[in-house]
Amino acid sequence: MNDKACFIYSEECLKYDFGKGHPFRPERAYHTYEALLKLGFFDRDIELIPPDYTTKEEFLMFHTLSYVENLLEEKRGRLLYHGIGAGDNPFFEGIGSAASVVAGASIKAARKLLEGYRLAFSFSGGLHHAHPNYAYGFCIVNDIVLAIKEILKRERGYPGKILYIDIDAHFGDGVVYGLYDTADVVTLSVHESGRYLFPGTGFINETGRGEGKDLKINVPLPPYSAEFEFLRVVDEIIMPLLEIVKPAYVVVQCGTDGYKEDPLTHLEYSAYSYLYFLSRMQEFLKNNASKALVLGGGGYVPPFASLIWFVTTLVLSEIMSIEEALKLSQKNLNLFGYSAFEVKFEPENRKNMKSQQDFEKISDQAKELLLTAENRLSELRTRN
Ligand SMILES: [Zn+2]
Repeated sequence: MNDKACFIYSEECLKYDFGKGHPFRPERAYHTYEALLKLGFFDRDIELIPPDYTTKEEFLMFHTLSYVENLLEEKRGRLLYHGIGAGDNPFFEGIGSAASVVAGASIKAARKLLEGYRLAFSFSGGLHHAHPNYAYGFCIVNDIVLAIKEILKRERGYPGKILYIDIDAHFGDGVVYGLYDTADVVTLSVHESGRYLFPGTGFINETGRGEGKDLKINVPLPPYSAEFEFLRVVDEIIMPLLEIVKPAYVVVQCGTDGYKEDPLTHLEYSAYSYLYFLSRMQEFLKNNASKALVLGGGGYVPPFASLIWFVTTLVLSEIMSIEEALKLSQKNLNLFGYSAFEVKFEPENRKNMKSQQDFEKISDQAKELLLTAENRLSELRTRN
């Protein structure tokens, strides 16, 4: 048994790049890696492990044969039928191997957890919009579903063995729908409502199907939801669900695009919101035997994502407290690509004044879903 943490990364992950001017920046995970490297954390506390390329067979755990073949062979014309080439997901040279190494990082992370590691970080992953047959929303392949399937392929599944938590501002459609009818994975996606934001789905009534019924929870927040709303979701939905499911594995998608400075969404979380989520997660992991797979995701203020992921790595690995990790990152802001401007991490307690009623309604409905999920899970677990 190995209690340690590992960080899966190599500079090959930088190849996942739609080109200059595209908002999805691969440098974010690179800066997190580089800061940990330069400050000496890979020497003793965290093991740095390079990813392998994803094989065709591994891709087929989730993706369709035609998509995988066209992607790996980089058939530009055919890839148009798979969402690559126009709009959000432009074609680029090396797209197949870029997708393969990034997905390979998350699959490797899953494998390390199976080998006995307690924590695995894969910040170039977190591509939660990719569907079996097509790329979507900057996500070419779905490393998250692949990593989860890798765990379930090698270990017996049972209801609620894995809890997927997605705090990206966008609904984690590829993951939630990809695991919609299994009871082995409970999913929770907290995002800006699909009425206002891509991908336009993820409503409260989408709760799973078949064996997975009642085990998929969506919390679609009104636009402009801020720190007050996010902290309440953490305390009233995320933490209680962790306690209800008590999963063997927690898979966390840490997109940072709910941050108020983010140009692509209308959420207004403070920087402190992310630290609060982190502190509660750390507390849970400390008191429970769950292993954690921690992934990246969206985040269109690149230095902010790099910094949050750096702090997350140090805190969840129990190398230092949030305060110490923050101090260290503030002293080294240049390592994250920050130039002159600073980030304020003090609590703001700011509320979305415009739609408190909408928020209360969603929050009440989500709490009811928790009860339904709890009942369903205990029914399934007794039956097993
Ligand atoms: Zn996003």
